[in-house]
Amino acid sequence: MSWENNIRKVVPYVPGEQPVRKDIIKLNTNENPYPPAPGVEKLLQDFDWDALRLYPDTKATVLVEELAARYQIKPSNIFVGVGSDDVLAMAFLTFFNSEKPILFPDITYSFYDVWADLYRIPYKLCPLDEEFKMVAEDYKQENGGIIFPNPNAPTGVLETVEMVEEIVKANPDVVVIVDEAYIDFGGVSCLPLIEKYENLLVVQTFSKSRSMAGMRIGFAMGNEKLIGYLNDTKFSFNSYTMNMTSQVLGAEAVRDNDYFMECNAKVMATRERTKVRLKELGFTFPDSKTNFIFAKHESRSGAEIFEALKERNIYIRHWNKPRIADYLRISIGTDEQMDKLIEALKEILAQ
Ligand code: PMP
Repeated sequence: MSWENNIRKVVPYVPGEQPVRKDIIKLNTNENPYPPAPGVEKLLQDFDWDALRLYPDTKATVLVEELAARYQIKPSNIFVGVGSDDVLAMAFLTFFNSEKPILFPDITYSFYDVWADLYRIPYKLCPLDEEFKMVAEDYKQENGGIIFPNPNAPTGVLETVEMVEEIVKANPDVVVIVDEAYIDFGGVSCLPLIEKYENLLVVQTFSKSRSMAGMRIGFAMGNEKLIGYLNDTKFSFNSYTMNMTSQVLGAEAVRDNDYFMECNAKVMATRERTKVRLKELGFTFPDSKTNFIFAKHESRSGAEIFEALKERNIYIRHWNKPRIADYLRISIGTDEQMDKLIEALKEILAQ
């Protein structure tokens, strides 16, 4: 016997590296290469530091109201959290509470199985097809809930709203979570479906398209009842999750929609340009509708290219996992950063 017998043992999620050094071309965690909206800088400078004596608004009212206005829904349809990871962790705890396995794709965001293991939720993987597309039929078997990103990560593949609706419609007895972390880079959101389906939760984040990964803001949109259940869990866990600055600065980022559209258009233009150049170098990839490209080289291994880029201070992401060990996930940076990446790849491939 040992005290260690009664410990909740988990294998944690491994996030992409956040280097302390500043001379790295960082294309490994899908951050936005552009700064947050200009109004965010101004508000941060003018922030009333004396207010920090007080606890933050537990309901994040300013942020929730701004999001409600932007997405034309009610504040009661919105739940906010400390990044979408926090929102998803609360959603797993709240909605995936049956003996039946939850379903998610075999290649997907690698936090899903970690949360499932943490909460002891049984799960079953549904294999993506050869083109990394989801197979709708797989999600019509008995289950305790469903989650998938759309577009998927790390593949970058977007599924249609019709496909998502087919899955939601076939599963009225469980909650279906669509993780739209990357939806703003050319995808079509399933948000309108929340009017029609009580059991659909759509999750988004400020970390990618709103350039605020450092602020940690995520949100979920869904039927009032679903949001109510999420809030009950959150207030049973930690009432003061989102800090004051995140609430105020997040609201400002939502207000400046022109800047948001402009930055995303730049990222998408750079992505399309990068696709052409990667193809010229012998890479193939599923078509990406995100701020990253999931690419594989015709003759070199994923591990080899990953290491060679790292030596040149260019960080990307690589997983030594079945089916994807030869793929590299490359975040979209500025045109200049992508030019440097392409030059480095040319050098590596010439060796
Ligand atoms: N979902 C997906 C699919 C992601 O790739 C990420 C980023 N790692 C997240 C959720 C979480 O992002 P955040 O907590 O920064 O909102």
